[in-house]
Amino acid sequence: MEGRCYCFRIIWLVVIIIGMGFMFALVEASDGDADPMYRTCVEECEKTGTLGDISIPNCGTSTDGISNLSWYMQEPLYISWKEWNCRSDFRYYCMIRREQELRKLGLRPVKYHGKWPFIRISAFQEPVSAALSAMNLFVQFNGWLTFFFLLYYKLPLRPQTSRTYYEYTGLWHIYGFLSMNAWFWSAIFHSRDFELSEKLHCSSTVALIGYSLILTILRTFSVKNGASRVMVSAPLLAFLTTHILYLNFCELDYGLNMKVSVAMGVAQILLWGAWAFVTHHPSSFKLCTVLIGGSLGMLLDYYDFPPYKGYFDAHALWHAITIPLTFLWWSFIKDDAEFRTTTITKKMM
Ligand SMILES: [Zn+2]
Repeated sequence: MEGRCYCFRIIWLVVIIIGMGFMFALVEASDGDADPMYRTCVEECEKTGTLGDISIPNCGTSTDGISNLSWYMQEPLYISWKEWNCRSDFRYYCMIRREQELRKLGLRPVKYHGKWPFIRISAFQEPVSAALSAMNLFVQFNGWLTFFFLLYYKLPLRPQTSRTYYEYTGLWHIYGFLSMNAWFWSAIFHSRDFELSEKLHCSSTVALIGYSLILTILRTFSVKNGASRVMVSAPLLAFLTTHILYLNFCELDYGLNMKVSVAMGVAQILLWGAWAFVTHHPSSFKLCTVLIGGSLGMLLDYYDFPPYKGYFDAHALWHAITIPLTFLWWSFIKDDAEFRTTTITKKMM
């Protein structure tokens, strides 16, 4: 009892700190791209295709010999891709140069177009976050696969229907798919940031958070009846769909998206925390560890710090923390499946 009280108090404390961090996060602005030196540099680059002595590969402005170019190099799609790619390169080289100047003056790094000045590795814009997202994807896949084997090959199945005794199997399968989808687009977005990858990353992440909230409500309130599940999920699904459509087709509003994501995230922490407190679930310590770790991880995103040596920022650290948390989370889900199956089969005997 004492342990559960302690867990609940910590979760409350973390929720309050998240709220405060969220307020600070909203007032922080990206100022690197407003710097006149940076803007002049990008404009010069766009005119000349060079940055001082550096010639940016494939971004020269010369149109000589255009008729000798391969057919695909004259295609509109290729030309617009090249323009986008060059603009991204110009911004990158100007940002690196400006950051070197700021460092010499003893000033802190600043954000450019909402992002810290990361050093690229090959074509990867944020190599550490991209690699960690790929590792998260693998851990999610491993978690889902072991869950699948546990339910269909280790635990008993209902004799008539060959279905699992665990009432939330289908819901966790959907959760597994949405998690893998979110980490896949996270890996793409951190590798290469363009309009489509940004929208897909944003949409798949908020879809996962929203769906997790639905799943949290259904599990913590033990909603087992199909009709009740539809009644609970429908308003949340309608809201989530509208929000995702708004982000994709009206405005990719980061402030709004952050508010929606934090509200849904905090609601889940409170619900799971209260559930762990009132139930006597044998694996509530795993759940509490995930909740506390997840809350602290969310804080990292708000108390944002610039990348160490140009690679490892607060966001990358958050993606590193989610790897062991995901192991523990799937371990809790599997324990829950085992616990429920044992409870139901015992009652039937
Ligand atoms: Zn990320």
